[in-house]
Amino acid sequence: MAGSDRGSEGGRAGPGGYAAALYGGSAGLKVAVVEDQRVGGTCLHRGCVPAKDLLQTAEVLRTVRAAGDFGVMLGDVEPVLDLAVAQARKQGVVDKLTKGVEGLLKARGVTTFSAWGTLADGPNHVVRAGDTEVVGDAVVLATGSYPRALPGLDFDGARILSSEHVLAMEKVPARALVVGGGAIGCEFASMLSDFGSEVTVLEMAPRLLPGADEQVADFLGRMFKRRGITVHTDSRLTSIEGTTELEVGFESPDGPVSLTVDQIIVSIGRGPRTAGMGFEEAGVELLSSGHVRTDGRMETTVPGIYAVGDIVDSPQLAHVGFAEAIVAIGAILGEDPAPVEYERVPWGIYCHPEVAWAGLTEEAATARGHEIVKSVHRFGGNSRALIIGEPEGFVKVIADATDHTVLGVHVIGPWATELVTEGYLAVNWEATTDDIGRLVHAHPTLSELLGESALAVGGRGLHG
Ligand SMILES: Cc1cc2nc3c(=O)[nH]c(=O)nc-3n(C[C@H](O)[C@H](O)[C@H](O)COP(=O)(O)OP(=O)(O)OC[C@H]3O[C@@H](n4cnc5c(N)ncnc54)[C@H](O)[C@@H]3O)c2cc1C
Repeated sequence: MAGSDRGSEGGRAGPGGYAAALYGGSAGLKVAVVEDQRVGGTCLHRGCVPAKDLLQTAEVLRTVRAAGDFGVMLGDVEPVLDLAVAQARKQGVVDKLTKGVEGLLKARGVTTFSAWGTLADGPNHVVRAGDTEVVGDAVVLATGSYPRALPGLDFDGARILSSEHVLAMEKVPARALVVGGGAIGCEFASMLSDFGSEVTVLEMAPRLLPGADEQVADFLGRMFKRRGITVHTDSRLTSIEGTTELEVGFESPDGPVSLTVDQIIVSIGRGPRTAGMGFEEAGVELLSSGHVRTDGRMETTVPGIYAVGDIVDSPQLAHVGFAEAIVAIGAILGEDPAPVEYERVPWGIYCHPEVAWAGLTEEAATARGHEIVKSVHRFGGNSRALIIGEPEGFVKVIADATDHTVLGVHVIGPWATELVTEGYLAVNWEATTDDIGRLVHAHPTLSELLGESALAVGGRGLHG
């Protein structure tokens, strides 16, 4: 939480909380943070950063395995994954970034209470941090989320794993079932497949990555299949039996399926952490989903108490937490900040191939009543993609048919999570495809594909 000159405001120090503290501190607010663990939250310790670090190990493995294609010969040597080294490297990155956040908080004069916090008095903005009472002109709640377990089946860390267990894994399972084919499930499926596991993904929706553009999600499904990852969509788990080996049963469109696996990775979503901390008792209203109700300025139903990050019913992304924290602090400062436009935030999924997008999917744009034009350009015709040996995937630009305003940009393929930034800017600046088509994209780059796609919407493309 974060504070004022009367006392302190405070945020738990995940991306939402520490962003509020840093942004508030840089605006001259007196800020206190209440955090019972090291600062950084899920993102830094149990989410984004460790996951992407291990996915980088997976990419290095893939690159080394393909070295011969580039004339770099390894002889008979097969690259071997040493998970202990990979985990130590990951921890080194996490520790370095944690020290960075701790240093920034100190430099901004933020007081950190290492304690479990509860909201003791809503109207008077009192937070109890262990034995200490912290009082502020405003309070920012940012207590984050927890991994949901399968009904009636607790995580045990040995056979039934949460994302936290996967990220601390010491041994790669020979056979893994990933339950839930959303962002986290697809990243883990991709990583474990690179690490040598036989991976099956079970998803109850009709395709992987519910919420992604359907053409992109279908392509990812095909690429996973090509990589040897088995994907069952429209499927539901019916039984799990056994202790060392697990016999799993599920219903698929082709009928009942049974499978033997060593570990089950549960990635069926995350719930808001809003219970047991005095929120409701203090008058902070929760939605039926357990999320905190806020207005566009991130203020809860108690004046002066704000909520940001995963406890709010918005995309569970670290950068959304950052953006909400900036809005909350702006509101505390009386600046009347514009609400976060959730439909236009960037999404990035770091599986192989990577997936990223900003703005509307084709389906959402059509459902909104837009008459659309679209252009799809494949990496197979892009020089840089061929040079780096990653010709699979495409860029898809969706624009309004009447004025060519860019409504959505979707990328699946190499460095999609970096490439999407230009699409993000286009969507948020309400650029037209003609605006983008006029811009010069360096050659040879992967980003040329966005320029090509934009040009093609106007009917005058270059390479395809
Ligand atoms: C495997 C995985 C991969 C992910 N990858 C990405 C990604 O690539 N990109 C992305 O944008 N997002 C990603 N996310 C999501 C991202 O981690 C979250 O959206 C983000 O961490 C939410 O930030 P937050 O501040 O709301 O909560 P959190 O990061 O959960 O932080 C909450 C903090 O509050 C503390 N806390 C809670 N209750 C109390 C209390 N009562 N007293 C004191 N302290 C308390 C906790 O210890 C924690 O430090 C990923 C998540 C997972 C699990």
